[in-house]
Amino acid sequence: MTGAAKGDSLYARYMKAFQASTAHTSGCPACQASAECAVGAPIHERFARLQDAYRRLQAEQKRF
Ligand SMILES: [Zn+2]
Repeated sequence: MTGAAKGDSLYARYMKAFQASTAHTSGCPACQASAECAVGAPIHERFARLQDAYRRLQAEQKRF
């Protein structure tokens, strides 16, 4: 396994979390109003964590 493959897998998980978050929000008035519901909270939290991890990985790669 290479570092690139690991990055791809993180990106894939990030994209999946983004889609799950967007899909939930599009059908949830509470989350649309930024008042996260009990179902949406862990979905949005997971997306935020993966987004953070992915951005950190990108920042690291830009240094080379
Ligand atoms: Zn919701």
